[in-house]
Amino acid sequence: MTASTLSHWILAYVTLLLLIIFLCSLYSEVRRRRFDPRPSDDRIFRCRDCAYVYTDDPTVDRARCPHCGCMNDPFSF
Ligand SMILES: [Zn+2]
Repeated sequence: MTASTLSHWILAYVTLLLLIIFLCSLYSEVRRRRFDPRPSDDRIFRCRDCAYVYTDDPTVDRARCPHCGCMNDPFSF
């Protein structure tokens, strides 16, 4: 085996390894984008009586607590 053939094998090995790493990163990026959760527009409510935290539709101004039934205003940060 000559030195030229050996260097070609090493080049092919490194190229194949880099190609595999590139394809793995591409696959990982596609999977991350597919399963990336979208931010929700739902309002967050925190019950003033039992401190239960729940969400409701963005169009609702006041929501009833599913735990104790108390009406609550949306929670603001
Ligand atoms: Zn409650």
